[in-house]
Amino acid sequence: MGFLSTVPATERLEAHPDHEHYISSTVYGSALAAEEIPRFEMAEEEMPARVAARFVHDELLMDGNPALNLASFVTTYMEEEAEKLMVENLSKNFIDLEEYPALGEIESRCVNMIARLFNAPLDNKDAEAVGVSTIGSSEAIILSCLAAKKRWQNLRKAAGKSTEHPNIVMNAAVQVCWEKAARYLEVEEKYWYCSQGKYLADPKEMIDLVDENTILVCGILGSTYTGGYENIAEISKLLEVKNKQLGTDVWIHVDAASGGFVAPFTNPNLLWDFRVPRVCSINASGHKYGLSYAGVGWAVWRNTNFLPKEILFTVNYLGAPQVSFTLNFSKSAVQVIGQYYQFLRLGKGGYRAIMTNLQKTADYLAEEVVRIQDGTMFELMCEMRGKGLPLVAWRIKADKHYDEFAIARHLRSRGWIVPAYTMAPHAEQTKLLRVVVREDFSRHRCEVFVRDLKDAIDFLDKTPSEIIQHLANASKNNAKQSHKSAKVKHHHEHDSLQAKHGKTHGVC
Ligand SMILES: *Cc1c(COP(=O)(O)O)cnc(C)c1O
Repeated sequence: MGFLSTVPATERLEAHPDHEHYISSTVYGSALAAEEIPRFEMAEEEMPARVAARFVHDELLMDGNPALNLASFVTTYMEEEAEKLMVENLSKNFIDLEEYPALGEIESRCVNMIARLFNAPLDNKDAEAVGVSTIGSSEAIILSCLAAKKRWQNLRKAAGKSTEHPNIVMNAAVQVCWEKAARYLEVEEKYWYCSQGKYLADPKEMIDLVDENTILVCGILGSTYTGGYENIAEISKLLEVKNKQLGTDVWIHVDAASGGFVAPFTNPNLLWDFRVPRVCSINASGHKYGLSYAGVGWAVWRNTNFLPKEILFTVNYLGAPQVSFTLNFSKSAVQVIGQYYQFLRLGKGGYRAIMTNLQKTADYLAEEVVRIQDGTMFELMCEMRGKGLPLVAWRIKADKHYDEFAIARHLRSRGWIVPAYTMAPHAEQTKLLRVVVREDFSRHRCEVFVRDLKDAIDFLDKTPSEIIQHLANASKNNAKQSHKSAKVKHHHEHDSLQAKHGKTHGVC
């Protein structure tokens, strides 16, 4: 019998039980390829590495293509050199700083570079900045809120005042991790609410919410809904006045998850960072415009006064005490390594070049979107020319028999993943589409996208409303079905928060 026998593997095995060769020579000709893959219980027997790898690989092909995922802020492209470094270090646990002192050094260098990029006031050019690497901005924000809560409690105790009912003042358009932080840390959420056409916090109305129990005011540098930057400098000014009135010492945390690595390069004169007097801490996602793969964020503080001792754990590292302030213990080292590679490789000039290109592509896309149907079809919901993140958010202003969700569905049939979502609480009657322009979304890819967007609109214009309604219902049912079978809550436009609180969040 030759190798290319077409007799199925199972039958060949029955005929020649000693020919194990047949079950391992080809993946899809093997007996395993004709069997179910275990879903609930681990199989008793092992399978050849090549077969297992192929099966996992094939299952993952069902995922969307990250390069066409215009919903996400998270990096989908890094250079081969970065990937190689990351693979080389996959077996290192970041927390073992004593065994891997170079990792500690690399983290400190990154913290120092980021703090200086954000204009942290440092005594001299060799001063060590205060900050940590985290899994993402969410961990950074939870840590920053924890530090602020402890600091507030200490001040209140020292003054003989109650430490009950701490609150955070923020725009209701915050990313979901702020609600997480508030609930996990038992801090009241005090919201400024958006209204039609007003999506960035009004500094005065926001500061009006501050009281003696406010542990932190959140300012957003890069709203996930519209990409807009909140007016941190004005919030700071008004907060100083408020602090004098109340005799309080409230500070601002800037959520620069996506704007932190954009604004310094495309809008260097914007005052949003430690140059603003009342900013005590800042987070940024290394895996968004920091240009590292998913799994790294940063939290930096103005100085050590904002990190109460009770929340710091000191571990001895090569004879020197190393302060640890994280939620996780073990974690991968490779994302921090990827981040450090990007800082070395790109320098400020490299980041500036990339961010400027992204801005140009976003501006081009915004102009093309507005031009569709001679300007009667869409209205932009984002800033342009570097005044916000390099993203394009828009809504239908024409009277159409389909909505933004129908456009998103149709684009999906071309492979594009573009989120349609409703605006922040109290403005949720507004629906939006949003394209996040990332490093690998080049002008050329953008042109292809514009063509497909125009095709989608032509198609929907010609489709009777009954059919559009039918497709919308079908997709709702599909979503319900897949939620049921997967038993996982996916974070997208219909996430759990909407169910609980009638809120929706833009995807990130
Ligand atoms: C993405 C994002 C977050 C959460 O960041 P992760 O790095 O995904 O944890 C928080 N705030 C804003 C404004 C964001 O865009």
